[in-house]
Amino acid sequence: MIAENIQQFKASIPENVTLIAVSKTKPVDAIEEAYAVGQRDFGENKVQELTDKSEVLPKDIRWHMIGHLQTNKVKYIAPFVHLIHSLDSEKLAKEINKRAKQNDRVISCLVQVHVGDEATKFGFSPDEARAFIQSIPEKGYENIAIAGLMGMATNTEDEQVIHDEFKALKNLFDELKGDSKYNLDSTHFQTLSMGMSGDYQIAIEEGSNMIRIGSSLFGARNYSI
Ligand SMILES: *Cc1c(COP(=O)(O)O)cnc(C)c1O
Repeated sequence: MIAENIQQFKASIPENVTLIAVSKTKPVDAIEEAYAVGQRDFGENKVQELTDKSEVLPKDIRWHMIGHLQTNKVKYIAPFVHLIHSLDSEKLAKEINKRAKQNDRVISCLVQVHVGDEATKFGFSPDEARAFIQSIPEKGYENIAIAGLMGMATNTEDEQVIHDEFKALKNLFDELKGDSKYNLDSTHFQTLSMGMSGDYQIAIEEGSNMIRIGSSLFGARNYSI
């Protein structure tokens, strides 16, 4: 079932859109099923779960941290995480830079921006994101590569609202990319991570090139067990 879901999903999205299989709460064998049909990008939102799974699964999996990341936990994923989607504060940036340096690597991060009303309390406002990104050169974060933006739309039936929020994020992405005052390296700043099971089609229409899909691939999550 999972293998089929992955294959059908991949066939249905444009080639330039990267599919992140969000495996949070799902067992290792579910990930193995997806891996067997070529899926290599997996997303988790808890550090403990991410590190536990990474220890027993193949080393060529690219692990994406998609949930809010506490500064005291950065050290556990710093040696191997592929992309952090949830860079949402100055304090976190400082810690990621420090731990990346200790591991002698550069960690790619997406700046999380909240465009929706209630989708998440985490993330920078668009203005805060502009200010944060502009301040990076003077902060000397040499072990962080700003790879793009991540955002979530409001959880609503109103598709117009979702369109508008994703459009706002895409506009911000284009603005940051296009203005030299932000000093973004165009070889790194390429990823716009937006869209989940319920709204990825709208996200792709609005310019997303990375979607984070959980329940449509692995089935509904059961948090009570
Ligand atoms: C859980 C989660 C997803 C996937 O959600 P689905 O609706 O199951 O596709 C995507 N992004 C983030 C940040 C998540 O926490």
